[in-house]
Amino acid sequence: MTEFPHLLAPLDLGFTTLKNRVLMGSMHTGLEETKDWDRVATFYAERAAGGVGLMVTGGMAPNREGGVFPGAAGLFSNEDIANHRVVTDRVHGEGGKIAMQILHAGRYAYSPDCVAPSPVKSPISPFPPKELDEDGIEKQIADIATAAVRAHEAGYDGVEVMGSEGYFLNQFLVTHTNKRTDRWGGAYENRMRLPVEVVKRVRGAVGDDFIVIYRLSMIDLVPEGSTWDEVVTLAKAIEAAGATILNTGIGWHEARIPTIATSVPRRAFSWVTQKLMGEVSVPLITSNRINTPEVAEAVLAEGCADMVSMARPFLADSQFVAKAERGEAALIAPCIACNQACLDHTFSGKISSCLVNPRACYETELRYAPAAKPKDIAIVGAGPAGMSTALVAAERGHRVTLFDKDDRIGGQLNMARVIPGKEEFHGLVDWYAASLSAAGVEVRLGAVADVEALRGFDEVVVATGVLPRDPGVPGQNGPNVVSYVDVLRGGAEVGTRVAIVGAGGIGFDVAEFLVHAGESPTEDLSLWKAEWGVGDPSETPGGLAPSGPQPETPARAVTLLQRKAEKLGKRLGKTTGWIHRSALKMKGVKMIGGVNYERIDAAGLHISFGEARDNPTLIEADTVVLCAGQEPERSLADRLSAAGIVAHVIGGADVAAELDAKRAIDQGSRLAATL
Ligand code: NAP
Ligand code: SF4
Repeated sequence: MTEFPHLLAPLDLGFTTLKNRVLMGSMHTGLEETKDWDRVATFYAERAAGGVGLMVTGGMAPNREGGVFPGAAGLFSNEDIANHRVVTDRVHGEGGKIAMQILHAGRYAYSPDCVAPSPVKSPISPFPPKELDEDGIEKQIADIATAAVRAHEAGYDGVEVMGSEGYFLNQFLVTHTNKRTDRWGGAYENRMRLPVEVVKRVRGAVGDDFIVIYRLSMIDLVPEGSTWDEVVTLAKAIEAAGATILNTGIGWHEARIPTIATSVPRRAFSWVTQKLMGEVSVPLITSNRINTPEVAEAVLAEGCADMVSMARPFLADSQFVAKAERGEAALIAPCIACNQACLDHTFSGKISSCLVNPRACYETELRYAPAAKPKDIAIVGAGPAGMSTALVAAERGHRVTLFDKDDRIGGQLNMARVIPGKEEFHGLVDWYAASLSAAGVEVRLGAVADVEALRGFDEVVVATGVLPRDPGVPGQNGPNVVSYVDVLRGGAEVGTRVAIVGAGGIGFDVAEFLVHAGESPTEDLSLWKAEWGVGDPSETPGGLAPSGPQPETPARAVTLLQRKAEKLGKRLGKTTGWIHRSALKMKGVKMIGGVNYERIDAAGLHISFGEARDNPTLIEADTVVLCAGQEPERSLADRLSAAGIVAHVIGGADVAAELDAKRAIDQGSRLAATL
């Protein structure tokens, strides 16, 4: 008897059956653009072998003008079809099913050639789109239908027509982006003509026995978005036009409400899909912030949807479904929704990977082959670098002992997980604990491993982490000054007026920690919806709450400072920095850059500005928190070196600057692959 009876139940689509209710949602990984088709095929085949019911590829452009960026992948030629055949054959060889997403970006295309219903520039693109004429619209429809035919020829089991997230088809639906007065604009019946026509033409072109998923924006989260009546009308029309399944789209890309970040509560939008249940008879897929089989099972058991889409969780663990089937859910590497190695990479033009799983998209390059000769390996430090080294080394067959002077594993992750909005880090530490145990790693906690204890091991890995940097501010030894470690680990008393020295990731985290009191909104959906202003699309078009964001009263008055003159938070995650900045602004956090720290006294923090040290200013504060970065903790590495023991030094002990869990886990895993 499985723990996940709803999730693992097959889904009969009439002409074909999906083996379970799990969809691997579309992700742009950048793999297709490498044109290394063995690498693309290996990525998908590994996930097919992991048991997922159906996968959707990253968005493929139906034509050049619809590509998300110039050179975006698509099926334009017979050669492209043959290349995609490599992928579909490998997936089918593993018993999997795969659909190709057709993504026309419309005005979101990063190109001067972008097209749209009307020449309304998007706030997230520098290029005003060209308005399509009647022939231009017909060309787009024909190109999308042709892309579906090519996908069919390439061996895909279906296509997903991308109709949400503010892309081309979505742009026709709302008056904000569709100002047309012809038969493609005006009344809703006209605005929805394009998506409905597209699905009709796709279905007509590919025949009956081919999956056609339509991804429909069920809550736009932008002003003048679709009303709920329009959503229902569209869903019925798309079903009648021939869609096999409707997938849920949440929020346009230009929305100012986070929809997939780690601070978004788990399954925050399953209620939206649930509203549509019963309105159509085709299966509905729900999506966004579902990352464990337990959550997915609950969503299905409660009747929120017929199927669950998870995308990033399949970067974190290709074997998600197989492990759920085997009763090993605790061993599924969790996606912590950080975006650090996936979306942040995509938006920087880099290939996606995963913070938790550096093999994601690097399957052909980073292999964890069984060790030819098992060794005794000592690893000192059970933070992300040490834990990842230990896990990969043990899984390869080495005998691994992991030491930490602390009484628990996790290192710096134990500070991250107390931050409101970063609760996913609990799951990450729990996963390491379960996986290290399953892999047979001997974990010695409360154990100071020094030179003598490390003699005799075949390999020694030093992952002793970092120490807080001393910023050398006069007065910093006063009773009103604490470090971030005291606050996040030591439970230091912090007054109601706080100045934070340093505005890196940790300065932002500490500010978030200090402005909150009581329940974290990430753990309470109604609180989170109120905080960000998420309403009900049945009450306001687009689902924006009429009263706007209603954050809780901040627990403290916080000022965040840095010496650099640039905007604070500029170096935070590319796709998440705006969320951290907005969250703190909503809580009244003052952000000041370009400062000199003159001194700290009982009144607070004295600063000045510029080289001339002008405008002396007092930031009145009961407590000053130092978050000035870190230095490597290399004392053990130095002692080993003096004793003639060669050690591998990794993580923060290696380079502290800009160390984060992504770099630490990547370095640890890659080292362990070579030991
Ligand atoms: P950090 O990102 O290097 O930031 C250090 C901060 O301290 C900067 O604001 C810096 O700004 C300031 N600073 C540096 N030297 C200073 C000095 N001598 N005196 C006073 N101020 C000084 O380090 P962190 O905030 O400790 O974070 C550590 C790592 O964890 C980073 O890589 C960070 O990205 C990562 N992290 C990431 C997240 C996330 O959400 N992704 C969250 C937490 C931590 P100025 O030099 O301009 O003053
Ligand atoms: Fe999830 Fe972060 Fe990995 Fe992306 S990088 S898949 S968000 S854990």
